[in-house]
Amino acid sequence: MAYDCDVLVIGAGIVGLSTAYAITRAAPGARVVVLEKEPGPARHQTGRNSGVIHSGIYYPPGSLKARFALQGSAEMVKFCLDHAIPHEVTGKLIVATDRAELPRLHSLIQRGREHGIPVRELGPAQIAQYEPEVSGLAAIHVGTTGITDFGAVARCLATLATEAGAHIVYGSEVTAIGRRAGRVAVRVSSGGGMGAGRIAGGVARTPVDTGRGAGRASADTGRVAGEVSRAPADTERVPGEAGCAPTDAERAFGDAPHTPADALRASFDRASSAPASSDTVFRARVLINCAGLHCDRIARLAGDAPGMRIVPFRGEYHTLAPARASLVRGLVYPVPDPAFPFLGVHLTRGIDGSVHIGPNAVPALAREGYDWRTVRPADLAGTLAYPGSWHIARRHWRYGAGELHRSLSRRAFTEAVRRLLPAIREEDLRPSPAGVRAQAVLPDGTLADDFLITETPSIVHVLNAPSPAATASLPIGREIAGRALGMLEGRLAEGGVASG
Ligand SMILES: Cc1cc2nc3c(=O)[nH]c(=O)nc-3n(C[C@H](O)[C@H](O)[C@H](O)COP(=O)(O)OP(=O)(O)OC[C@H]3O[C@@H](n4cnc5c(N)ncnc54)[C@H](O)[C@@H]3O)c2cc1C
Repeated sequence: MAYDCDVLVIGAGIVGLSTAYAITRAAPGARVVVLEKEPGPARHQTGRNSGVIHSGIYYPPGSLKARFALQGSAEMVKFCLDHAIPHEVTGKLIVATDRAELPRLHSLIQRGREHGIPVRELGPAQIAQYEPEVSGLAAIHVGTTGITDFGAVARCLATLATEAGAHIVYGSEVTAIGRRAGRVAVRVSSGGGMGAGRIAGGVARTPVDTGRGAGRASADTGRVAGEVSRAPADTERVPGEAGCAPTDAERAFGDAPHTPADALRASFDRASSAPASSDTVFRARVLINCAGLHCDRIARLAGDAPGMRIVPFRGEYHTLAPARASLVRGLVYPVPDPAFPFLGVHLTRGIDGSVHIGPNAVPALAREGYDWRTVRPADLAGTLAYPGSWHIARRHWRYGAGELHRSLSRRAFTEAVRRLLPAIREEDLRPSPAGVRAQAVLPDGTLADDFLITETPSIVHVLNAPSPAATASLPIGREIAGRALGMLEGRLAEGGVASG
């Protein structure tokens, strides 16, 4: 039996890429492939978030979120420094605007101290020293919060991983998964996205289609499977980074007319054992599911019952008009409501200097539904058929109605922001790109709070990696890598590994 690789990762978001990077560091020589359906990295959650390096103050001691965010925020700052990725440790304010929030603010102070995070209590006059336009009864200043561009971090991780020998195959959507003892086979369809079949920064033929899209032009590119495609000019390396130039491994693929699986086998020096016309099936010893908004689907494709479902919530943002951007100097958050950990409109001055205000959270009508016009009946039907969605709707309909109202009415949104920023006017707000959160929901309607990483034979599934997973991506990647390599070692110790 021929293997294309030891470890196959689905998803080139920040979690999948950090995992691939961690494997190349922990086990140099391990053959790692990342499959990504989009033409480049970080096209979903990783490229559409607030860009905040969270301190970890919110998360209960003992949780994975606390452990990985505390460790991850410091590591993320160092990673950005080491690789010249724009970032800044700005600190942030958490502001109580209502007396009812004061006990929760005090609990946060306690928690921050337990975690060893520098926190300072502020009264209204001290709030004004940090943020003259922000109003509040009391606040805390959290010293270790920062900002960066997580898309740039992901692109750099992709480069570092490929330099260390991993292969990233863009434009390749996983559509079927088969498994037998000790191995997993994954079928990819390359018909759906531009850049199909592109391996890292090189040029490759689109794969031989296995039926799904045979002979059909790609919706995005008009290309027909089998045509040679030059890599789009979107390799998106971080400018000026030594670590982000095309690698020898990438160049080695050159213009070779091969399918990805063939290319990988050739590169791993296993060509002789490859079937003559392997199409787009990748065989691996271990599979890692980092598919974000689609992680539950991937788990089901693999025959596993994930015990949760991703219910997509869109977070909508506005940007302050440039002439009014001086209203906000840094990061200003409300006291979180424990029932809705990801809600609460905040004010964020990003690494590019623009000020984002949001999000409000509304159900998305597609897993990648970034506006109200994007509807995927299959996604919607899946959400509506899931008992957990109805439990959420029953429990939180009032809150949900408010969020919908704020989504549809800029006036209502402005009113909500005025609690923190009284000077804001409706005409100060410009629409800004939205993001969709991959929120795992249990069948009883509980929103999974902590990161959720599970193992089934030969597979590691990442089933809940919402905020602060971008902040925490470096330790999360090491954790997943450790579990996958543990599986690999177990297999080798059992002597059950066929030559690859
Ligand atoms: C609005 C918003 C704001 C946020 N703000 C912050 C913040 O300020 N700080 C922070 O730390 N975190 C924040 N987060 C969370 C953070 O963005 C995510 O936790 C993180 O990006 C998750 O990364 P990921 O790699 O798991 O998912 P993703 O980035 O979504 O990557 C998953 C990848 O899998 C690919 N994929 C899916 N299915 C398939 C398939 N079948 N075949 C091949 N590829 C597939 C997708 O195309 C995608 O590229 C925010 C999230 C949102 C939505």
